[in-house]
Amino acid sequence: MNAFSLAGRTALVTGANTGIGQAIAVALGRAGANVICAGRSSCAQTVGLIGNATELRLDFADPMAARDVFADRQIDILVNNAGIIRRADAVDFSESDWDEVLDVNLKAVFFTCQAFGKAAIARGGPAAIVNIASLLSFQGGIRVPSYTASKHGVAGITKLLANEWAAKGINVNAIAPGYIVTNNTDALRADPARNAAILDRIPAGRWGEADDIGEAAVFLASPAAKYIHGTVLNVDGGWLAR
Ligand code: NAP
Repeated sequence: MNAFSLAGRTALVTGANTGIGQAIAVALGRAGANVICAGRSSCAQTVGLIGNATELRLDFADPMAARDVFADRQIDILVNNAGIIRRADAVDFSESDWDEVLDVNLKAVFFTCQAFGKAAIARGGPAAIVNIASLLSFQGGIRVPSYTASKHGVAGITKLLANEWAAKGINVNAIAPGYIVTNNTDALRADPARNAAILDRIPAGRWGEADDIGEAAVFLASPAAKYIHGTVLNVDGGWLAR
């Protein structure tokens, strides 16, 4: 089991106060990592759940917010999880709903990877990045144009960074969660027709839990995934296989 241990490694998880980010932070801590829980809101609850963890305030309303985070300390694992979604018909979609989503979900992800990568390359690795993509990295979705564009972009830059950094000891991969029970999907679960339609097409027959993503993140961050580069791992109860 040692290949799956993160003992002695430090991980930074963005958006670690709730949902998938909180579950990833807890799972990485359980696997032995020291965890830096980053959020625009307090991550005190997550820090309390982990024990071996600290908190860092990062608000990606400024997509460059993480520019100096990796310069003065060694961080071995980066999980870019923070993300937002805006819903409106394409014909009505506003410029602000486009820009805000692209800034947090794509621009901040790239420049946080860049800051992390600079430090990790200077150190000579090993290091791992896990970006949180989406089913909408592959599918179009409905009424979420900026989200779909951002998540297609996340899949693209994950592959680009893997191409540039695989030989430098940095594993860059992503997870595409299926339909997971978090704040992000409250609106879908509150709509009985959408909820039933979604459940009906998930081969596993249930919504995903945030912890399902946490365990996958441990794998991609661990030495067990050392020859995995540029992949987007679907953790979706079989949705994309259907
Ligand atoms: P969530 O519960 O809404 O969590 C989103 C996280 O992102 C929160 O921690 C939030 O902080 C943080 N965040 C938002 N804007 C931020 C900003 N400007 N700066 C820093 N942090 C910010 O949703 P979730 O489902 O756990 O989403 C986590 C990731 O999974 C997102 O990238 C999402 O796109 C992706 N995802 C989710 C699903 C799903 O079914 N739930 C499916 C596919 C992909 P606050 O709490 O302070 O707002």
